[in-house]
Amino acid sequence: MLWIQNAMIPELNRVDDVLVKDDNIFKIGRESVLSYVKGTKEKVDMIEAEGLYLLPSFVDSHFHLRNPGFAYKQTYGEADVACMKGGYTDVIAMANTKPVADCPEVVQEVLDNAKPLHLDVYQAGSVTKGLLGEELVAFKEMMALTKIFSDDGKNVDNAEVMKKALAKSQELGFLIMDHSEPETEMVIRNIELVKEVGGNLHFCHISRKASVEAIVKAKEMGLHVTFEVTPHHLFSHGLSYRVNPPIATKEDSEYLVEAIKRGYVDYVGTDHAPHSDDDKKKGAPGIINIENAFSMIRKVCFEHNIDWNTMIQLMSVRPATLIDKKRGVQEGNIADLILVSDKETTLLKEELTTRSKNTPYDGQEVRGIVEKTIVKGEIAYDNERA
Ligand SMILES: [Zn+2]
Repeated sequence: MLWIQNAMIPELNRVDDVLVKDDNIFKIGRESVLSYVKGTKEKVDMIEAEGLYLLPSFVDSHFHLRNPGFAYKQTYGEADVACMKGGYTDVIAMANTKPVADCPEVVQEVLDNAKPLHLDVYQAGSVTKGLLGEELVAFKEMMALTKIFSDDGKNVDNAEVMKKALAKSQELGFLIMDHSEPETEMVIRNIELVKEVGGNLHFCHISRKASVEAIVKAKEMGLHVTFEVTPHHLFSHGLSYRVNPPIATKEDSEYLVEAIKRGYVDYVGTDHAPHSDDDKKKGAPGIINIENAFSMIRKVCFEHNIDWNTMIQLMSVRPATLIDKKRGVQEGNIADLILVSDKETTLLKEELTTRSKNTPYDGQEVRGIVEKTIVKGEIAYDNERA
């Protein structure tokens, strides 16, 4: 058992104790924890958490695992370590692997390889075979393994193909995660398609004010559309580092923050995209994000008076529903938890654990450190021991 003492629990708005037994949050509240611990002979490990915040662990709606095919950018093991360090216990892995995750065999291969990890990998299928934007995958057959499909990395250019995919998502109940490029133009086109044929559509890494406005309007019409924002689009503007969609203007990034405040944003997705130095030199778009996402988001929240619970919703509770998981510091929930500090800190490239180091944020001042990551009741990462 794990006895977490004196943790600030934002969801309960108080400092309290939590007892984790097996893989569950067993008791919350000093009195009930004390009385249980007194009466048991089971081994109890204590964590003094004074000054730390206890949150449900993060779930990434947008992650590039890079396997199969690109282990030279990141291995399964490295992804696991990086996610634990970042406080992420679950990720939705995009389908732009080699081979593409466009058939049950590839999805199954990833799930099998990810099984020994602390990290829970939810593998998305692609929308079209080989990400070529032409022939749809066998959705029904693949739905035994996944109910999320995405051609992320590429736009589905052909409107007829997208329309058919959306109609299928309506019929079968799966979700399409869309990489819209050029962003606002494609967001608007795809909303029109949803109006026409229905469907469940999620917009990845939204970065522009005009895109948000279009999506909010579509939501108000009752369409099944959602969107995520990334740490880098919230955190930066006017930065020339290559990422897709590009880092936007100050007005755009300020509007994304405003959109969080107004409750428009559904999820934070990291778009964690490891690349080798060589690939980066050749122009590969992407930032390695998973280890730093919390510190970046916490800084944005702190500076803009966005409370802990809003952040918890965006990074944990809501994205968890995409993969049918329940998150929150509540008795009976699975003990997927993190303890974080709220200290100022500096991002250092040399401290990244994955072999790829593609970040523009070396030396950036940020806020908050993941001190411990607990997966199903076991400590999977401990900053003190790291
Ligand atoms: Zn994308």
